[in-house]
Amino acid sequence: MSETIEYPVCEYCSQERKPGVSCTVMKITIQGQEHDRVPYANERRPEPHDCHDCNTPLGGIHHANCDMERCPKCGTQFITCGCGPGELPVATEGKYPE
Ligand SMILES: [Zn+2]
Ligand SMILES: [Zn+2]
Ligand SMILES: [Zn+2]
Repeated sequence: MSETIEYPVCEYCSQERKPGVSCTVMKITIQGQEHDRVPYANERRPEPHDCHDCNTPLGGIHHANCDMERCPKCGTQFITCGCGPGELPVATEGKYPE
C-alpha cells in the first residue's frame, strides 16, 4: 500500500509546500510599504530541519500563512501580529538561491 502525500499549494508562489522547497516570493507589502521577508532562521534549535509547518529549508522563505514566519515590520509571528499583508506580496522570481 502506498500513500500519496498531498501538500497544500502556497498562495504566494503556487508551489506545493514540499520539504526543502522555499517560497520564491521574497518581498511582501505591509501597509503600503515593501519589506523583505524574513528567512527561516535557526531559532534556538539544536539541529537544522525543515520548517515544521511549511517545510521550507533553513535559510529559505516561509510559504503563505506559515506559523513560523516572522513579520519583517514588527518582528513577531506574522500570522498573528496584525500587520498582515495589506496587499498581495510581490514576487521577485529567481532571487532565492538554489
Ligand atoms: Zn510559497
Ligand atoms: Zn515555515
Ligand atoms: Zn507585524
